[in-house]
Amino acid sequence: MAVSGLSGLKKYLSLMGFKEEINRRRTFGIVSHPDAGKTTLTEKLLLFGGAIRVAGAVKSNKIKKGATSDFMEIERQRGISVATSVMGFEYRDYKVNILDTPGHQDFQEDTFRTLTAVDSVIIVIDAAKGVEPQTEKLMNVCRMRKTPVMVFINKLDRPSRDTFSLLDEIEEQLKIKTRPLSWPINSGADFKGVYNIYKKSLNLFDADVQEIQPAIKFADVNDPQLETHIGNDADELREELELVEGVYPEFDREAYLAGDLAPVFFGSALYNFGVQELLDAFVEIAPSPKPSVTEEREIKPAEEGFTGFVFKIHANIDPNHRSRIAFVKICSGRFERNAVYKHIRTGKNMRISSPTAFMAAQKEVIDEAFPGDIIGVPDNGNLIIGDTITSGEEIHFKGLPSFSPEMFRYIENADPMKSKQLNKGIDQLMEEGVAQLFTSQFNGRKIIGTVGQLQFEVIQYRLEHEYNAKCRFETLPMHKACWIECDDPKLLTEFKKRKHQKMATDKRGRDVFMADSGFILQMAQDEFKDIKFHFTSEF
Ligand code: GDP
Repeated sequence: MAVSGLSGLKKYLSLMGFKEEINRRRTFGIVSHPDAGKTTLTEKLLLFGGAIRVAGAVKSNKIKKGATSDFMEIERQRGISVATSVMGFEYRDYKVNILDTPGHQDFQEDTFRTLTAVDSVIIVIDAAKGVEPQTEKLMNVCRMRKTPVMVFINKLDRPSRDTFSLLDEIEEQLKIKTRPLSWPINSGADFKGVYNIYKKSLNLFDADVQEIQPAIKFADVNDPQLETHIGNDADELREELELVEGVYPEFDREAYLAGDLAPVFFGSALYNFGVQELLDAFVEIAPSPKPSVTEEREIKPAEEGFTGFVFKIHANIDPNHRSRIAFVKICSGRFERNAVYKHIRTGKNMRISSPTAFMAAQKEVIDEAFPGDIIGVPDNGNLIIGDTITSGEEIHFKGLPSFSPEMFRYIENADPMKSKQLNKGIDQLMEEGVAQLFTSQFNGRKIIGTVGQLQFEVIQYRLEHEYNAKCRFETLPMHKACWIECDDPKLLTEFKKRKHQKMATDKRGRDVFMADSGFILQMAQDEFKDIKFHFTSEF
């Protein structure tokens, strides 16, 4: 009896510890239009987490407009870019996991997939430029998934746009309500600092001082002490804050967690100003790991059974070894090294003997990990993006959509002696999600679909350098690839027969209609009203 009591207690304590581990996790992505300051902010957050000691340690994975040479440079640093894809660190009592996303729009599919593995997002906006095209696209993905977003308005040390108009623009263009939790006092050369509405304190900005200055606390904004610090700007600040309180309802955490409201912070990532306030508020209000949707049922993080899914694959990290790393997001249960798990797609058992955690710039082998964590699983080609791994239950995670590409080309072998290498290379690069592959049902030719020109260059480069194969592309003037679906098999057959020349198969064997132009697509939609045309592969 006593023994069972003791083991019961142990079990209870272990369960409590497990729940605590989940609750203290914050897994998020930082997104921005290129150049708004994502890399700079990431680096400053890592400094707070003690994950790096000096500025400049985080390598930008940025690719300038269309420059293949930049990409090749990045390829050389592939080891680094793997390490910086996920950066975990401890801050206060929290375990923070930052998932990096490529800034270049040609790699937006990679970003979209990464966003399926986060519980919240911080959007960085340049205070002079406001909402930019890429910000809008990324926000659309967050909205689709109801991901909670927080906004950091950056570069206040430079002349910036009027604060109210910036907030209006965010509300209009990003279609989300905002609630400022801090407020800037001027900008550019007159930038005095940021008033923290959330904590009722003032942080003074001084471009010459590198260290972070302690915040000055006030009972309320009417405190005459405010004048001693910011002089005549105090009155204007009071007026603006009054307006803020009048215009914006109280911060509502539930609305934020539901993805309906974005709390907004201001600062200058370059000067590490306003970043700690952002981080402090972030760990307090951002969500811990959320339930995940599978085709079968909802999975809660605190469930005992282990579940996780692959959202990213990095191949050929070391050109001398055909090494791949699969990034697995843990959705439920405690992950244990060497435990036997099931790879659902193949039905095979797998034992993960050297899983790695990503702690800032280094990888280390770990024995256990918790929901919200990302682990790196060394793999030699068994895992593909979207795969589910569990402690036995047959479930399939949802939410890794493929979007219709915008550019299409036939891919041809340019070296007949190397066709085996070419096919292998194409297969592996597609598994990594570099682009999408379709096979024409009409002539059997392989078609590569991408979002941007750069992806074709990357494919060509990597085929040559990693697989010793040569390819040639042939332009295919195509408008969109649509996944088609219909309840009536006869009608579907009829459609496929009529459009035979334009039908292709995706990598999962599904039917895709390749429309030459928007007009032709519209005609097809009008003619076949009972056929559904999907622009993402998940429906
Ligand atoms: P990303 O493309 O969003 O990752 O942007 P980066 O972090 O690489 O920043 C782009 C450029 O803006 C770099 O030259 C940064 O030094 C600069 N930058 C970033 N944050 C600030 C800031 O707060 N103030 C100023 N003046 N420049 C900044």
